[in-house]
Amino acid sequence: MTRIVIIGGGPGGYEAALVAAQLGAEVTVVDCDGLGGASVLTDCVPSKTLIATAEVMTTFDSSYEELGIIVADDTPPLEQSARVVGVDLGKVNRRVKRLALAQSHDITASVTRAGARVLRGRGRIEPAQAPDGSRTVTVQAVDGTEETLAADAVLIATGAHPREIPDALPDGELILNWTQVYDLDELPAELIVVGSGVTGAEFAGAYQALGSKVTLVSSRDRVLPGEDPDAAAVLEDVFRRRGMNVMARSRAASAKRVGDRVEVTLADGRVIFGTHCLMAVGSIPNTARLGLEEAGVKLEESGHIWTDKVSRTSAPGVYAAGDCTGVLALASVAAMQGRIAMYHVLGDAVTPLNLKAVSANVFTDPEIATVGYTQADVDSGKIDARVVKLPLLRNARAKMQGIRDGFVKLFCRPGTGIVVGGVVVAPRASELIHPIAVAVDNNLTVAQIANTFTVYPSLSGSIAEVARQLQTRKTQNEL
Ligand SMILES: Cc1cc2nc3c(=O)[nH]c(=O)nc-3n(C[C@H](O)[C@H](O)[C@H](O)COP(=O)(O)OP(=O)(O)OC[C@H]3O[C@@H](n4cnc5c(N)ncnc54)[C@H](O)[C@@H]3O)c2cc1C
Repeated sequence: MTRIVIIGGGPGGYEAALVAAQLGAEVTVVDCDGLGGASVLTDCVPSKTLIATAEVMTTFDSSYEELGIIVADDTPPLEQSARVVGVDLGKVNRRVKRLALAQSHDITASVTRAGARVLRGRGRIEPAQAPDGSRTVTVQAVDGTEETLAADAVLIATGAHPREIPDALPDGELILNWTQVYDLDELPAELIVVGSGVTGAEFAGAYQALGSKVTLVSSRDRVLPGEDPDAAAVLEDVFRRRGMNVMARSRAASAKRVGDRVEVTLADGRVIFGTHCLMAVGSIPNTARLGLEEAGVKLEESGHIWTDKVSRTSAPGVYAAGDCTGVLALASVAAMQGRIAMYHVLGDAVTPLNLKAVSANVFTDPEIATVGYTQADVDSGKIDARVVKLPLLRNARAKMQGIRDGFVKLFCRPGTGIVVGGVVVAPRASELIHPIAVAVDNNLTVAQIANTFTVYPSLSGSIAEVARQLQTRKTQNEL
């Protein structure tokens, strides 16, 4: 029986454990925090649970103006931008933590049911490979006791942790990283969010909706510098319209507590004040103190583990998956890398990692969902593609629902009409991107999308409409 030891129980590790156990291997998963990993305990699941409450708040905020709903019927006439509901953040955060823990328990139960052993502790790989090719992993439990495990293959799936700026270290009370915000009992009155990547933008939007006065400090020209520029522009407009102070080209140099407030100093000397500050300035891979380099595992300059398309590292018998590899920091990609590693180790049919059709979503309001080639790829000439963008304002369902912001954009090859990418900016764009992902993954053409019935009225009607416009060879400039 093939012995597999997995260090790290996030999506990269636990999905691999499930597959390997189902394929008959003897599997041990070692994790120091709990199965589900950072994804379930501090990152993806908690943030999306908080955002679920924020979404409802946004709906209420626009419900009177757009849809004529009166929530507090003893307070009319409601002023245009009056808040009609409030939020109990302590209660929201208790729910967030409860859901995260429950999900971690569910995952532990499925992994154990599948036949894998779960060990709580910190794992590291020993330098030497035995003559039979096996490896040794040492696990240190919380009480300091050590256990050694022999493995025919080791999967490293240790994830990443928040990057820190030395002069803006979190104190867990007023200066926070994204793992600490769920301990807040009261809504920050004035929140400064440092960093306007996906994490910064999601939290800035969520706290704004929950009722905080938010300042978003961005070192770049615009928010979401890595995303579709049209989508980022829509989001930035929405943020500003809702009263967020978006500070572009503003790099935070330090953050410190001054009494019961926080003072953030920018690199150009300007100083801004708030009651709380959330640092969202990227992640560092958890690849230190694992014995990796001593075991022959090559690390990139950034500290990420180098892997090939079947998740092999440079050391025989050692595989890696997820955020520690820096391939694409998404739970879905981590899980796929982990599964691929197991298929490869266990000699099952394996398809190398294909990032062409990865769908991703920014959980702001509106959401921004993307798949395939991007506008930047088209603009830089990396791919020859035609582009059409259709604002949702023209969509009948959007009008009925009071949706003003957003669009659908498709990219297709000029000759064949094969769909190579798409962007949806809309409420629940994460659900709307799937037909485009199916098209990209299966080389479907704009004609096939255009000729497929959509429900009338529906937001997905705009996807078919964009495809029709591409089919009739209109270019973005002609619109
Ligand atoms: C705020 C935020 C929101 C996000 N939202 C989304 C989202 O909506 N959708 C999405 O797809 N992605 C999202 N992501 C990204 C996603 O969380 C990561 O891509 C995913 O967690 C990566 O999974 P992983 O298995 O590599 O590692 P992780 O989930 O980080 O798990 C790694 C585990 O390994 C453990 N570990 C580390 N070192 C050791 C050791 N030596 N021994 C034993 N155990 C160890 C850690 O304690 C942890 O439990 C988000 C990220 C952040 C920061």
